[in-house]
Amino acid sequence: TPGGGAKFKEEKIRVTVRMRPLNRKEQAMYDLIAWECLDEHSIIFKNPNQDRPVTPYTFDKVFAPSCSTQKVYEEGARDVALSALSGINATIFAYGQTSSGKTFTMRGITENAIKDIYNYINNKPERHFILKFAALEIYNETVIDLLNRESGPLRLLDDPERGTIVEKLNEEVAKDGQHLRHLIGICEAQRQVGETALNDKSSRSHQIVRLTLESSLRESSGHVKSYVASLNFVDLAGSERISQTNTCGVRLKEGNHINRSLLTLATVIRKLSGGKRGHIPYRDSKLTRILQSSIGGNARTAIICTISPSLSHVEQTKNTLTFATSAK
Ligand code: ADP
Ligand code: MG
Repeated sequence: TPGGGAKFKEEKIRVTVRMRPLNRKEQAMYDLIAWECLDEHSIIFKNPNQDRPVTPYTFDKVFAPSCSTQKVYEEGARDVALSALSGINATIFAYGQTSSGKTFTMRGITENAIKDIYNYINNKPERHFILKFAALEIYNETVIDLLNRESGPLRLLDDPERGTIVEKLNEEVAKDGQHLRHLIGICEAQRQVGETALNDKSSRSHQIVRLTLESSLRESSGHVKSYVASLNFVDLAGSERISQTNTCGVRLKEGNHINRSLLTLATVIRKLSGGKRGHIPYRDSKLTRILQSSIGGNARTAIICTISPSLSHVEQTKNTLTFATSAK
């Protein structure tokens, strides 16, 4: 790679692509596989019109349908997740159209990260850790606590020291991995409660699971060093919610099919990746306000773009790959 600049960028935002297998419904409909993973870095559209050559899309990593979630975790998210243990804020996103595998992937990523984190903690008895758990959902720019849905819409407040905070968001201290999984289970059930009331809700809402990792270590000098960082797992709304807008995504069109948080996130990521200094519009949406301290700056970000292999989803897949290209 030419120069250290490119490497630095890669360190801050890691973009990978995961293609899921053709599902049973698609197979039953005789849907076709439209994409081929050429190697671990490139993916190509299988042009039925063979006389017109197509160029592959290339990324840090492309995960073929046969890849396990563990491999996706290890190569697409692990180092980002573990950076939170040393006090660096981190966010892992799943981005893609509805039914492309975001929730499937994020569940597995979260599970793998929890295992990894507790492995680390249990092997470091000299360092005292406290893990806090919180989870929220953003739907139509309304923030809901997934540990306590009844508490109603939550407000965002600007704290001069801590940045944007979510007022009254419940935070539970996780006693161990099992307790943490239990808390995640509560939130998933909560997310489904809203689901029946509005059936396309999961395609429109963002879910953030936030772990806050606090630790202190007594150094040989007797001095106590403390670390704190948040690690966010974000299952985004379906990207079809923004693809009707122009590809620059600068203009925010009116209409409820447009998701302000998703559109703003895409713009923020593109601007950060472009490496240009200047205004980053974090404040334009709830999602980017909440995650501001965990995207850009010193934070580390992993974006796993999930795609469907099927011919019937080609347009959305192209949109996702275009976003992924602009994000890297
Ligand atoms: P999304 O959250 O993007 O709408 P889901 O994660 O719900 O999509 O995935 C849609 C369906 O495809 C689910 O039934 C899920 O279990 C399945 N699926 C997604 N990704 C994979 C994969 N990598 N391997 C096997 N099945 C998958
Ligand atoms: Mg989902």
